[in-house]
Amino acid sequence: MTSLRYFAAFAHSALKFIPSGCGSPYRGFRGFIRTMAAANLKQQKLVSALLDWFSTNARDLPWRRTRDPYAIWVSEIMLQQTQVKTVIPYWNRWMNELPTIKAAAEARSAKIHKLWEGLGYYTRARNLQKAAKEIIAQHAVISKPCRRRGNESQTEKELETPHVVSYKFPDNFDNVLALPGVGRYTAGAICSIAFNQPTPILDGNVIRVLTRVFGIGGNPREKKTNAQLWRLAEDLVVHAASSPSICRRRRKESHSTSISSHRLLTSSPTCANLNQSLMELGALVCAPRNPQCEICPVKKLCVAFREDRVVELPNLGKREAATARRFAAFVVERNGCFLVRQRPAGVVNAHLWEFPNAEIHPSSSNSGHQSAHYSCKNGQSRLTSAATVQKHDWEIIHAAKSLGIEPATLHPLCTVKHSITRYRITLEVFRVSFGGTSYTSPHPKRAMSGTRRTRPSETGIWLTPVQLRKLAFTAAYRRILRRLQTHPQ
Ligand code: SF4
Repeated sequence: MTSLRYFAAFAHSALKFIPSGCGSPYRGFRGFIRTMAAANLKQQKLVSALLDWFSTNARDLPWRRTRDPYAIWVSEIMLQQTQVKTVIPYWNRWMNELPTIKAAAEARSAKIHKLWEGLGYYTRARNLQKAAKEIIAQHAVISKPCRRRGNESQTEKELETPHVVSYKFPDNFDNVLALPGVGRYTAGAICSIAFNQPTPILDGNVIRVLTRVFGIGGNPREKKTNAQLWRLAEDLVVHAASSPSICRRRRKESHSTSISSHRLLTSSPTCANLNQSLMELGALVCAPRNPQCEICPVKKLCVAFREDRVVELPNLGKREAATARRFAAFVVERNGCFLVRQRPAGVVNAHLWEFPNAEIHPSSSNSGHQSAHYSCKNGQSRLTSAATVQKHDWEIIHAAKSLGIEPATLHPLCTVKHSITRYRITLEVFRVSFGGTSYTSPHPKRAMSGTRRTRPSETGIWLTPVQLRKLAFTAAYRRILRRLQTHPQ
């Protein structure tokens, strides 16, 4: 496609030499060249408008103050499925604690999870560490020691032993793409932003801008439309690579004023800025709902704006209906310690911590937050206020028993609603008092990890509130912890 673009540019300038007129055998060819040239011109204008706009409107984000590929990589992984304002404190904390690839590779798994706690999609953090280890193993910068002046004690063997001085982040697109957890989008973002290479990117924001500006009605999730969008994104960044830098253009115009534009203009990497401008326009102006077309820098080029199709693009088809799921979680306290367990490897939110919980029937509903009261005699739990306990309560009691918890009383603590992928989850949380009974950890077969030997932390251990604060919990369970702090009893 890119070579086609060059061909179109060349052919367009050669048009004056091709015979014209109704009877000309070159009529169809002339039409094709004209269409290609018009598309080429639109792309050039679009790139120019975006670069101009970005030079004065780019947000001052911490990862935009560096060209360190590691820092950019961390930001790109965090920004997947997460908003910029949420990511900023996480990114700052991560870069403070793990400022280098080596530090990320050598960090303990618990630290990685704690730094990622609340961001969700924890596989991303684990893959980041895996990739950091791969970079350490495969991209070390090695130097051979030379004889230090005046140090005659250095042996020949010492002088021949090379040592690692640093680790080089790969700067080749294929090598970046080969890292665990790095897909085409992330590799394109790292190579363009850190190394100013003409590698395209395509995320939700870019898809929205491109489908609207070019009036693309196909579903971006379908292969053909997706490939068309990638080609467009590539054409634009290739145009940017050959664009005069804003710096030079502005110097000619000599009226650059704002501080932010000055900061961005100092290096003016056009591929980096073009890709970021597409994302920025999608985030700030061309929003999914109520886009601000009136102030949009590319509205003159926008097909959706001209043809009044903004609302219908992008055409994402029908969303898969969300599935409702219900869980009951139990906050069990004994001598100031709480019973918690760690999710095993291979499941959603693996290695994160939670209170013991079990899935209950999705249509089962709470009977109005009544307490289910039990007494315990001769090791047998017995319902003493049956009138208040309904089918839902029996399910909760059964769920508690399946986890090895024989409750004396169950008090509703709170209900947490959240979503994971296409699941809409309702988590009913109960405080449990033992009242004489004891906790028996569930049989390994009942533990989540199936046939693998279960670690004690996966079936349940007792920890103090101070110890809990050091562990990484999923967002839903952190809300329960906060609730416990504000309602200790
Ligand atoms: Fe989006 Fe409107 Fe700008 Fe078109 S004119 S790119 S629809 S904000």
